[in-house]
Amino acid sequence: MNQFTTIFLAALATSLLLRLWLAWRQLSHVGKHREQVPESFASRIPLEDHRKAADYTRVNTRIGMLALVWDSLLLVGWTLGGGLDWLDSVWRGTGYSAVPTGTAVILSAMVIMTLLDLPFSIYHTFVVEERFGFNRSRPSLFITDLLKQGLLLAVIGGPLVALALWIMQASGTLWWLYVWAVWMTFTLVMFWAWPAVIAPLFNKFSPLDDANLKQRIQALMDKCGFRSKGIFVMDGSRRSGHGNAYFTGFGKNKRIVFFDTLLESLEPAEIEAVLAHELGHFRLKHIQKRLLSTMALSLAALAILGWLARQDWFYHGLGVTQPSAWMALLLFMMVLPVFTFILQPLLSLLSRKHEFEADAYAVAQSSGSDLAHALVKMYRENASTLTPDPLYSAWHDSHPPAPVRIERIYATMQT
Ligand SMILES: [Zn+2]
Repeated sequence: MNQFTTIFLAALATSLLLRLWLAWRQLSHVGKHREQVPESFASRIPLEDHRKAADYTRVNTRIGMLALVWDSLLLVGWTLGGGLDWLDSVWRGTGYSAVPTGTAVILSAMVIMTLLDLPFSIYHTFVVEERFGFNRSRPSLFITDLLKQGLLLAVIGGPLVALALWIMQASGTLWWLYVWAVWMTFTLVMFWAWPAVIAPLFNKFSPLDDANLKQRIQALMDKCGFRSKGIFVMDGSRRSGHGNAYFTGFGKNKRIVFFDTLLESLEPAEIEAVLAHELGHFRLKHIQKRLLSTMALSLAALAILGWLARQDWFYHGLGVTQPSAWMALLLFMMVLPVFTFILQPLLSLLSRKHEFEADAYAVAQSSGSDLAHALVKMYRENASTLTPDPLYSAWHDSHPPAPVRIERIYATMQT
């Protein structure tokens, strides 16, 4: 066996076992705490809701474990099983030149991957979400969403992949630097255009029209020095009962988005506190920091790919007989997560650090107790568990567990 094949299989087995073990820990930890609401939440979360959150978390974790095994099998099928090699030979058979052939291979592989994962998303939306009362999506909407995504892939992804392949072919050994520049330009343009151009294809965004609330929000934004076209309400209730708020875009397109489902359940003071948290992400430059680290990481990744693409063992070790620019890209995209999974706790840690900072900002600018009340409501209504396994949470969670987060908010208020 090729030495790289051995390394790949060992890394895949290690990451799979580690993830299954973490998920198993989560299952048993949440199960063990199912009958007891944590003390600090006992007055606000009924036992029935706590049980629902535990059951919901456990079902999702189990499906996640199944999906993990399925995706690992698929990855082996695509690579060592000869899937990619077969797809490559089909498109090579058409006799087109390199760039169109490579673009077709990459796009069709992405479409097939989506279709192979479809049973999981269908089951999640129409069985699990339905059972727990979150699903508001009809099959027709689900299918329209898929078609729109496919269209976006063709219209935006197609030219981008073709451009990358052309650069790889035409610009010598430093191609990865140029591809990186193109990729970063694309990321910035998308980041800027997303709220105004892409997101409205899937949801309706309307300016917040509650005059009372609007005034309150404007006052807070002035105080925090945030200028933007404002606050938008998204019709999240079209697809699901889950509620959320987020900050997106930059420049003139930056905006704060509230799900209509969240607005329904929060009091004006609580909405203000959640907004202050989102403004914290903006004031503390979390978006820019995240963007910069993404840029640095992609540069490192592409530099590695620049070297890997010239190594025959990289292709042969992963079941591809004929090296090409597009195979290098595809293999890299598919196999990289197996090796970078180990970095996940670090990324989660940084993300949780930003959440604590944004919470502290909200405490200073608005009200800590309103923020805490809003969070409790959000946890309850989203059926998020209050008792995740500490190790699982440290590895995966971008947000701190509710008890830790709320305790920290009250501690910040005392100082
Ligand atoms: Zn946040």
